[in-house]
Amino acid sequence: MLTDIEIAQQAKLRLIKDVASDIDINEDELEFYGKYKAKLSDELSERVSKNEDGKLVLVTAINPTPAGEGKTTTSAGLGQAMAKIGKKAIIALREPSLGPVFGIKGGAAGGGYSQVLPMEDINLHFTGDMHAITSANNLLCAMLDNHMQQGNVLGIDPRRILFKRCLDMNDRALRNVVIGLGGKVNGVPREDGFIITVASEVMAILCLANDISDLKKRLGNILVAYTYDGNPVFCKDIKADGAMTALLKDALKPNLVQTLEGTPAIMHGGPFANIAHGCNSVRATKLALKLGDYCITEAGFGSDLGAEKFLDIKCRYAGIAPSCIVIVATCRALKYNGGVPKTEVSEPNLEALKNGIVNLGVHIDNMNKYGVPVVVAINRFYTDSDEELKYIEDYCHERGAEFALSDVFCEGGNGGVDLAKKVVEACEKPSDFKLLYDNDLTIKEKMNRIATEIYGADKVNYTPQAEKALKDVVALGGDKLPVCVAKTQYSLSDNPALLGAPKGFDITVRDVRISNGAGFVVVYTGNIMTMPGLPKVPAANNIDVDENNVISGLF
Ligand code: ADP
Ligand code: MG
Repeated sequence: MLTDIEIAQQAKLRLIKDVASDIDINEDELEFYGKYKAKLSDELSERVSKNEDGKLVLVTAINPTPAGEGKTTTSAGLGQAMAKIGKKAIIALREPSLGPVFGIKGGAAGGGYSQVLPMEDINLHFTGDMHAITSANNLLCAMLDNHMQQGNVLGIDPRRILFKRCLDMNDRALRNVVIGLGGKVNGVPREDGFIITVASEVMAILCLANDISDLKKRLGNILVAYTYDGNPVFCKDIKADGAMTALLKDALKPNLVQTLEGTPAIMHGGPFANIAHGCNSVRATKLALKLGDYCITEAGFGSDLGAEKFLDIKCRYAGIAPSCIVIVATCRALKYNGGVPKTEVSEPNLEALKNGIVNLGVHIDNMNKYGVPVVVAINRFYTDSDEELKYIEDYCHERGAEFALSDVFCEGGNGGVDLAKKVVEACEKPSDFKLLYDNDLTIKEKMNRIATEIYGADKVNYTPQAEKALKDVVALGGDKLPVCVAKTQYSLSDNPALLGAPKGFDITVRDVRISNGAGFVVVYTGNIMTMPGLPKVPAANNIDVDENNVISGLF
């Protein structure tokens, strides 16, 4: 089979204005970035605001192996398959970060015959949203340091600055830096650090903002530092909110692209799924709901992290509710959950699959708790044996879960027709979406609900540092905000080695921080890397471009 980029390069792209016209968007409602990418204008959002909403379909997954299990591929394939059965569906996805593109994981625009195009553009600079977010983030940093340089009227304590610089690159050498060296004219020396752009609170804010006024207000509320007296300093105290919003005004507009089969795809925003909520922008999802009969959207990692946050943070803030939840499962990840090392998951191993299948069971039960119909998508890899696939199907059948075998990777939309039909049926079923917790509960009560109901933990413990940090968060009024748990994606617990369906464990909270502009409280259950590093052999080693501008090596 061809590589992802070879398949993408063989595709005949449709003009984006034609893709747009399929979903009744006029040409003058598009802001073109070349022939195949366009931003969707505010006028369009305004015009369709009274349209009835389509059905929202959330694509999530079981606990993954480190390679990812195919949520984006399944979302793109499902969008293509919906067109095959005559349905008007729009997929809404996150836009990729350069970190994974050049690191281990590669691009994030799907795979095989279920991809989003133009693949190279999307994975590289796209429409410049990452650049705008990086600039807005770093403007705040520059203004903060300048404030201290120019007399520090606010009395900012250089040892208590929380807001870091960012860069859209895996660059471990920038995790901890000292800035302001070189004498008086070169700034106030202090320790600083860089995070990757997608981990910036500015990204989370862009993705949760309803409109430009909401964006500005949320940016103004970012907690950036404390003063020598221990008082909080917000972005608006530094007066950076207006200029940051100016930098972000176009980045706030969703991007329209297309799948390999020419169906519409909106890609917009891409926050981390551990320290942030891990899904594309509220604006993109809402617009897709207004424009299509179905909006198919993805949340990061497994359902314990991504779907929980999608439902309890994004749906809560946006006032939207899914009509169906698709759980992507693979033989590989189930075998990994059954104890097989990641290097051996391609070998048939029914025993390991039988051990690991409990993981799927927990994800099905958890999603059922939200009152929304669930469909399991078994994402087929060519290494899967028929015996293994049949075992998963029988398991779903016995548990009364709807399921479909999906081969959208090899067959594109045709490989997802069964899945599409199951999703359409599920969307017609009565659903009674309920959030997992009430915002009025305390942070500890909310965390307890998530840990016991979703992770299956016995209880939650707090380190002394976490207790102290929680007090600060409560003092800032954070007790009534939704909780965003930063946790390993590999296990339902906070220990990546506990695979399958672990029982009899506690969750340990090590730190609590407020994302005051985004509007959630991040509860840390371990050390979360916010500036990844490159592996020994980075994907970038194999990326090249020839004399005809044809790129190779992206995957
Ligand atoms: P996720 O969104 O869950 O992280 P992706 O859809 O990005 O996962 O897929 C992760 C990687 O696995 C991609 O490189 C993709 O091309 C590949 N992949 C996904 N599904 C299949 C499949 N059925 N067969 C082979 N490779 C696949
Ligand atoms: Mg993905």
